[in-house]
Amino acid sequence: MTAPARLMAEGHDVRLEHTVTGLRRDEAGWCISTREGGEVAGRYAAVVIAVPAPQAAPLLQQAVGDMATLAAAVRMQGSWAVMLRFASPIDLPFDAAFINQGPLRWAARDSSKPGRSGMETWLLHATAEWSEAHIEEAPESVAEVLISAFATLGAPSPAAWSAHRWRYADSAPALALNHVWNSTVGLGLCGDWLNGGKVEGAWLSGRDLGLQVAAALGSA
Ligand SMILES: Cc1cc2nc3c(=O)[nH]c(=O)nc-3n(C[C@H](O)[C@H](O)[C@H](O)COP(=O)(O)OP(=O)(O)OC[C@H]3O[C@@H](n4cnc5c(N)ncnc54)[C@H](O)[C@@H]3O)c2cc1C
Repeated sequence: MTAPARLMAEGHDVRLEHTVTGLRRDEAGWCISTREGGEVAGRYAAVVIAVPAPQAAPLLQQAVGDMATLAAAVRMQGSWAVMLRFASPIDLPFDAAFINQGPLRWAARDSSKPGRSGMETWLLHATAEWSEAHIEEAPESVAEVLISAFATLGAPSPAAWSAHRWRYADSAPALALNHVWNSTVGLGLCGDWLNGGKVEGAWLSGRDLGLQVAAALGSA
């Protein structure tokens, strides 16, 4: 899922592994601080915050109060995902299914997607409710529960697995604002939580905010 973002980042000055911890504005523009690198050199005419609402709220608190209130009101739920690898194709009568019973929400044969080759792989998603209730659990025990639930559908034991916890996966409910732009201070907000909660909404939100910022800065 990161491939489109990697492609779009090509040719740009992107600093990875930098957690933004502070935003401050003075007469010269925005000043950005990161946990890993301290204050970023330079001042910026505009800042776009493209992170989940609970992570946006503390940054906004320091900068623009009404945007902070908006972000703080959005509740986001976690999601556990478990990837499975099998030594050979497994015999199940579906390539993807919404389960929505017990801990499992969704199971998909990833290796059946167009352009895939290699080992048989499946992706299991836990429901939002189950994920939230077990969000602090160890990956081993989460995988054990989800693999057992998958087994009840007829799946054999996998040859290998990995579990991934998405702390802020779903907004409940997502807003329908597309994005927010404060032209007075040059601060924008975008992301799935502002535009329907899915990846398409995230892309449209970022794209529309980008156009608005470019127009405001005179480079559209
Ligand atoms: C397991 C899973 C499967 C999914 N499958 C689908 C699907 O099939 N179809 C679909 O439409 N959607 C799917 N989604 C939802 C989709 O991934 C999201 O809607 C989309 O990624 C949201 O994009 P975003 O840019 O708004 O936020 P994110 O993708 O959450 O990106 C925010 C980024 O900001 C970074 N960040 C946070 N705080 C800071 C900080 N202080 N400083 C610097 N960086 C920070 C985060 O590390 C993250 O990289 C899935 C989600 C999950 C969890």
